[in-house]
Amino acid sequence: MDKNEMLIEFGSDPKNESFARVVVAAFLTRTNPNLEEVSDVKTAVSEAVTNSIIHGYENGAGKIVIHAYIENRTLFLEIQDFGCGISDVRQAMEPMYTTKKEENRSGMGFSFMEAFMDELKVESEPGKGTTVMMKKEIGVEREQY
Ligand code: ATP
Ligand code: MG
Repeated sequence: MDKNEMLIEFGSDPKNESFARVVVAAFLTRTNPNLEEVSDVKTAVSEAVTNSIIHGYENGAGKIVIHAYIENRTLFLEIQDFGCGISDVRQAMEPMYTTKKEENRSGMGFSFMEAFMDELKVESEPGKGTTVMMKKEIGVEREQY
C-alpha cells in the first residue's frame, strides 16, 4: 500500500491562505491529479483556511494546522484551528448561512467544500476550535456537468 503523510502549522495571517493552498497542491502531485482535481482541492483548502482566519480567530493571531495524507489514490485532509469554535455546526454548514453578512460573506464556504470534495465532516467546540475533515479520491471518472 502506498501511503504518505504531511503535517504543517502556520500562523493565521491571510497571506498564508495561498501558501496553504500551494503546499497541499504540491503534496497532491504524487497522485497525478488532473487540473480540475487540483483546482477543487485548492478551493476547499482556501475556504477552510479562510474560515479559520476570519471566523475562528476573528482576524487575530492563532495557529492553523493542516494534516494531510494520501492512501492509495485518496487524499485525506484535516484543517484545524484553536479559535472560537462553532456552536451549531449543522446550521453553519447550511448553504448561505453566514455570521458575517455585514462583511458581504455569502455563506457558501462549506457548500463549496462539500461540492468539490467527496466527503466533508466538521467537528467543533465553542472556545476550543474547529477541525474540518475532507476526503477526495483522485483519478476517478466523474460525471461532467
Ligand atoms: P463565505 O465562505 O461564502 O465567504 P462564510 O465564511 O460566512 O462565507 P461558510 O464558510 O459556509 O460561510 O461558514 C459558515 C459560518 O460558519 C461562518 O459564517 C461562521 O459563522 C462559521 N464558521 C466557519 N468556519 C469557522 C471556524 N473555523 N471557526 C469559527 N466559525 C466558523
Ligand atoms: Mg467561509
